Amino acid sequence: MIQFVSNKGGGKPVDFETAILDGFASDGGLYVPDTLPNITKKQLSAWKGLSYVALAFEILSLFIDRSIVSESELKNILETAYAPFEKKETIPFYPLKTRKDTYIMELFHGPTISFKDVGLAFLVNLVNFFLERKNEHLTLVVATTGDTGPATAYYTAGKSNLDAWVLYPKGLITEEQERQMTTLQDANVHPVGVSNCPDGADDLDLVIAKLYADKRFKDKLKLSSVNSINWGRVMMQTVHYFYGYLQVVDTIGEKINMSVPSGAFGNLCAGGIAREMGLPIKYFVVANNTNACLHRVFSEGRFSKEEIIETPSSAIDILVPSNFWRFLYFRNEKNTENIKKWVDQFKATGSVTFDKQTFESYSKGFKSYSATDKQTLDIINELYTNEDYLLDPHGAVAVVAADNLKTELGDEKLICFATAHPSKFPEIIKKALQTSVLPKAATHSSVETAKQLCEKVYLCDYAHVENALMHAMETNWDLIKGK
Ligand SMILES: *Cc1c(COP(=O)(O)O)cnc(C)c1O
Repeated sequence: MIQFVSNKGGGKPVDFETAILDGFASDGGLYVPDTLPNITKKQLSAWKGLSYVALAFEILSLFIDRSIVSESELKNILETAYAPFEKKETIPFYPLKTRKDTYIMELFHGPTISFKDVGLAFLVNLVNFFLERKNEHLTLVVATTGDTGPATAYYTAGKSNLDAWVLYPKGLITEEQERQMTTLQDANVHPVGVSNCPDGADDLDLVIAKLYADKRFKDKLKLSSVNSINWGRVMMQTVHYFYGYLQVVDTIGEKINMSVPSGAFGNLCAGGIAREMGLPIKYFVVANNTNACLHRVFSEGRFSKEEIIETPSSAIDILVPSNFWRFLYFRNEKNTENIKKWVDQFKATGSVTFDKQTFESYSKGFKSYSATDKQTLDIINELYTNEDYLLDPHGAVAVVAADNLKTELGDEKLICFATAHPSKFPEIIKKALQTSVLPKAATHSSVETAKQLCEKVYLCDYAHVENALMHAMETNWDLIKGK
């Protein structure tokens, strides 16, 4: 049976269910499986042609013990989770006309039209399944750069064993994203808009860490998180790497490249793990905007926190890509002492420079790029003008990065990840296309519907957020428990 351990080495190994329900490991580290399953070429060939959900069943079965989730239970959870996706392929592909062997993987056809639906659909339903079975209640707290919040809220809404508190940096996400959270009327969804966050959503991660650190509070409300610190997100996200590979290759075993717009590194951590498991990927492109933390990590071997910059791709305006520490576990001979040393050093000083050997080991098979705002807007315009295809600003960052690294990547097939529907970013689209009228491709019925609903939201200032939030959360908890 696969056990789950902290990447920082503290605490005891736990089973899958505990790892999922805890979110963080007991020493504040991130859970990692003690071994990774190995995928052979034969297995990959057998999976070709499977639907996304059927493939997910195969891959997740390698991580989840049947005694914890049975075959039929896993099938049910997956069917329920992906039923609200709007396309029958779940994740469709668009081959670009203006670039050879280049495909856009559209990860935004879930109910809140971003890539976050892909991981959270499964994770929230899985958490709920465990809670129903144990007859327990959990309080989820998540911070969002605009997309985790809506997906968590959507999948939590109406589930009686769960409450979700969703913290967002007010003014730093779009009105469309905000309304996806605030217009749900369900009593167990609590969006919290926090004004004046100096470092954007990274600040809200710190707030959550403080709530966790208050043991009385954490135990009373039974806090957990479905941010990408939760192993369940990363595990589920390995599936679309396998799925994408199987959709575009001619021969099983041929190597391809993938370009991924990256913020907290939850998506690419899953990609890295998929490759460790045996998926034939030549290069992963770490596509950053001008908040280039990951670009520094992968090009210079330096993990450092700098000032946040507002960009058109706001969902990846992130300073601290926490899942990098999880990935490093696999590329640093599972040396938890080293990870703990680096994480502590980063917390204390805001910067870590890796030794040459470590840098070479983790950066092997990765290329990185930091796209400017202008490059991002230009590529949206170019693809819309030349082939009538509208990318969102995050997908655009992935294409910019891949275009600029083309010579280094080589001629292998390339998948660029498009992680949000453009209708979430109408002002950016107008700016990119230099128009005041939004094209139809930049609209979506769910966004239009949300415009016509009342908002229900808690608001507070960053200066008081911890006390304000604890007060609101505890009051709500006493109310539901009093029922
Ligand atoms: C969250 C998000 C990303 C980045 O994913 P990470 O796992 O944080 O690297 C990219 N694009 C969009 C639209 C997102 O919402």
